[in-house]
Amino acid sequence: MIRLSSFVQDQWTEGTGDTAVLVNPSTEEAVAETTTGGIDMAAALAHARTIGGPALRAMTFAQRGDLLKQMANALHEHREELLTIAELNNGGTRGDAKFDVDGATGTLASYARIGEKLGDHTMLCDGPVTRLSRARFVAHHVWMPRPGAAVHINAFNFPAWGTFEKVAVSLLAGMPVVTKPATATAWLAWRMSQIIIDANILPQGAYTFICGSAGDLLDHVGPHDTLAFTGSADTAGFLRAKAGFTHGSTPVNIEADSLNAAVLGPKAEPGSDLWHIAVRNIVKDMTQKTGQKCTAVRRIVVPESWTDALCEAIAEELSRIVVGNTADKSVTMGPVATANQLRDVRAGIDRLAAEASIVCGGSQPVAGVGAPEGKGFFVAPTLLRATDADSAPAVHRDEVFGPCATVIPYNGDAEEAARIVALGGGSLVSAAYTDDRNWLGSFLMGAAPWNGRVLACTAKVADETLPPGMVLPNCLHGGPGRAGGGAELGGVRGLEFYMQRTAIQGDSGILAKVLDIPSE
Ligand code: NAP
Repeated sequence: MIRLSSFVQDQWTEGTGDTAVLVNPSTEEAVAETTTGGIDMAAALAHARTIGGPALRAMTFAQRGDLLKQMANALHEHREELLTIAELNNGGTRGDAKFDVDGATGTLASYARIGEKLGDHTMLCDGPVTRLSRARFVAHHVWMPRPGAAVHINAFNFPAWGTFEKVAVSLLAGMPVVTKPATATAWLAWRMSQIIIDANILPQGAYTFICGSAGDLLDHVGPHDTLAFTGSADTAGFLRAKAGFTHGSTPVNIEADSLNAAVLGPKAEPGSDLWHIAVRNIVKDMTQKTGQKCTAVRRIVVPESWTDALCEAIAEELSRIVVGNTADKSVTMGPVATANQLRDVRAGIDRLAAEASIVCGGSQPVAGVGAPEGKGFFVAPTLLRATDADSAPAVHRDEVFGPCATVIPYNGDAEEAARIVALGGGSLVSAAYTDDRNWLGSFLMGAAPWNGRVLACTAKVADETLPPGMVLPNCLHGGPGRAGGGAELGGVRGLEFYMQRTAIQGDSGILAKVLDIPSE
């Protein structure tokens, strides 16, 4: 068992006191331990602000982008090792591990390219100059890096991508990072941090890594620090209520639970191309990373007359899934990540099953292929079927964070489909499969404001579309309402959270010279 450590004030530091033990979820063997006991969180934040911040702000976007490029390259050189750690600590298949690790390097590389395009500037303009007089008096709205530290708290399901999608955006914006992975799956983020530090890419103070409990970190945030949190709505609510955020106006971005929907509309009838793509995407999103994806589909909305056929088609695909220890190469879906997750997923399936019938799977114990007898956090891919949208309130309320989704029949109307999507209270992503433009237009008017992203899958782009569960660096990630109200990524848009927008009024000629913005 290895001992993980934190990187604080530019030193690797082993915490003191009781340790949290990380396990292999396929075998329940202990793989690592960590603690943050004794770490001075206030000093960690102060070091990032005072040493890392000025160093990053002195660099141009192009220079910061180059740091990201070097980070992506350094991590890519260790790809095989990282994939193995992901399998051992997160429990997913090799494909799941690639999704996480390559997602991290891909996002770093993508923001490196954005940095290159933004070039030799240090701030961003928000729109054209505003004329305030007939002569020289003007206003420029500019985004400048916040002179604080960007605190990141991540969920257990994406230790690699979750960490580095946030790191990429913050560093490019010019903010030093204080990042913390979820403790249960921290090994991968720890090793990636070690690779970055050993490669000596970043300026002093730019990267702080907290490996374990956050302790009192959030009690020390100041007005220009930021918090980007990914995790459950319950933890988000608790953190949001801290004084720094309620009274100090420290910016906070929350990525929380989401009851994402897939909707079949007209002209996606059984047997059509759109039907097959919908089934393929639904099964992929239900089972990839054992359904532990914030963007995984949870509700499948289908015209009443196609419900039997859709349940049959999805159940048939799910019957081919081999659940077990991913060290066994016949396995196509691993365990959930922790014992708590297993308990929560089983209880969640039971809650849904009180309102909807089980088509396949269920909450019963599963013996994983290739796992030691009685060991491993395995759960069956589970499809449920509700009678209708309003008779199953739990389906729109409870996020079962595992390989589980519910089919909901509806009358085929676009407005009704949008109403059902909205019952989820705000989602990260929904997908609509249809080739009917009028239907799609009405659906989008009703459903889009309830989502951060919508995939409109029509016949002509069907071959080009990616599964809706895939988050891309150049599209917005986040969603309204219960999804947290956050907005990450989205290309340059993602930088805004880490920058302050200020309207600067003055002489057009002088401002053009003193501000690092293009003159007219
Ligand atoms: P969680 O239990 O809320 O934990 C998330 C993070 O918060 C962990 O790093 C955890 O640290 C930390 N944390 C917990 N209590 C804290 C406190 N008092 N102060 C500071 N940090 C604290 O969530 P999870 O079980 O890891 O993740 C699953 C949830 O995340 C799901 O609901 C899923 O939908 C959501 N999620 C959302 C997105 C998105 O982008 N919207 C992406 C992935 C996951 P410890 O591990 O050390 O306790």
